[in-house]
Amino acid sequence: MPASSLKNFEELEKALGYSFRDKNLLIQALTHKSYAGEYGLKSYETLEFLGDSLINLFVVDLLIEEFPSASEGELAMMKSYFVSEEFLYELGEELSLDAYLLLGGKRRSNHVSPSLLADTFEALWAALYIDCGRSVDKTKELFYRLYRNRIVESVKRNEYKRDYKTLLQEETQKRWRERPTYRVVNIEGPHHSRVFEIECSIRQYRATAKGKSKKIAQQHAAKKVLELILSSEGETQKAAY
Ligand code: MN
Repeated sequence: MPASSLKNFEELEKALGYSFRDKNLLIQALTHKSYAGEYGLKSYETLEFLGDSLINLFVVDLLIEEFPSASEGELAMMKSYFVSEEFLYELGEELSLDAYLLLGGKRRSNHVSPSLLADTFEALWAALYIDCGRSVDKTKELFYRLYRNRIVESVKRNEYKRDYKTLLQEETQKRWRERPTYRVVNIEGPHHSRVFEIECSIRQYRATAKGKSKKIAQQHAAKKVLELILSSEGETQKAAY
């Protein structure tokens, strides 16, 4: 463990508003498997797995509290944004996590990818949770102190409403590392006012939608498939194992 990385942890702890009792947990959250392998340390992977669940809980709980009249569909859309790689990467970058990351081998010289930083951010919250004696309340309080306003303001600015093709692709990449496919199933109407019917499919999910352009029809179809996936969360998880 290079001493230079150790002394800098203070700044990270200050930014988090939390001082770790067990610095090894903090170090583990910042240890990529490439580094762990070289030095016989534990990597952040299991912490990331736990952190992912914690952040899901914090975000959903916050959204339901702040937006009690939002429908389940809207909440699902909001949630998918606030637990996305894109958003968590942003938060990880603000904490300058890339500066603390312990990378080994070739990774050392490469630039830190958004997904790596998002994963580290997740691991960090699991480390904090374990370090504070596994108190969900305490961890949630710290998370909200840092991010409540930001999430609420972001919802008010509609930042979670991105285009559906992008949202869907992000979701399917995350779940299965696959992309949905689109195909034209029908074109009707006279030349000057055509209506396109597009089918969007991925795995067992499939929907068609119509629109005055292929682009519009694709967006509608993507929205339908995304809703199918998000509303069958439990079943999908079972299917994945
Ligand atoms: Mn992750």
